[in-house]
Amino acid sequence: MAAVSPFGAQRLDEISSWEQFKLLSIRIDRLDKWAKPGVLCIGDAAHAMSPIGGVGVNLAIQDAVATANLLTAPLLAGELSLRDLEKVQQRRQFPTVATQFLQIKMSRNKARRKSPGGSKIPAIICRLPFLRFVFGRLIGLGFRTESPLLHK
Ligand SMILES: Cc1cc2nc3c(=O)[nH]c(=O)nc-3n(C[C@H](O)[C@H](O)[C@H](O)COP(=O)(O)OP(=O)(O)OC[C@H]3O[C@@H](n4cnc5c(N)ncnc54)[C@H](O)[C@@H]3O)c2cc1C
Repeated sequence: MAAVSPFGAQRLDEISSWEQFKLLSIRIDRLDKWAKPGVLCIGDAAHAMSPIGGVGVNLAIQDAVATANLLTAPLLAGELSLRDLEKVQQRRQFPTVATQFLQIKMSRNKARRKSPGGSKIPAIICRLPFLRFVFGRLIGLGFRTESPLLHK
């Protein structure tokens, strides 16, 4: 491991047995309800993302920004309600569903491209090259960008 790992060999001293290795399962799913009284799930806790497209971290951070934007004022006023918590799902549900849809499409395309004779570039992009820009933007910025609001 030390010979092939990019990490310093001293970090590998931490690993003493195969018991410490875990299988990291990949899945795409989401909760029906992100909030209950006293608890709110965002990021992967609300919607598990696969590595495809490298978008899961983006989505999780945007959930966090939306949460701060929506909940800071009621928290500061000491009036946080379940309805406030539910507003986070209302705002973030669409980008989540749309991003997961894209991930599922991309994973199917990847499987097809691996098949013999499969093209490296999805057919729709060959027909409509401007979609490269659209997909790039969706992957980089997401379906709904969140900007932090300043609260006083
Ligand atoms: C194999 C794999 C590769 C991926 N590659 C990419 C990629 O390249 N780019 C990308 O954008 N996304 C990638 N993703 C998706 C991305 O990792 C997730 O969407 C993203 O990390 C979600 O962020 P999060 O903060 O919601 O959850 P997490 O990053 O999972 O953070 C949750 C944190 O909570 C901690 N925690 C859990 N339980 C407790 C507890 N009881 N008390 C205290 N802390 C706790 C965990 O240790 C963890 O640090 C990948 C996913 C997988 C499975």
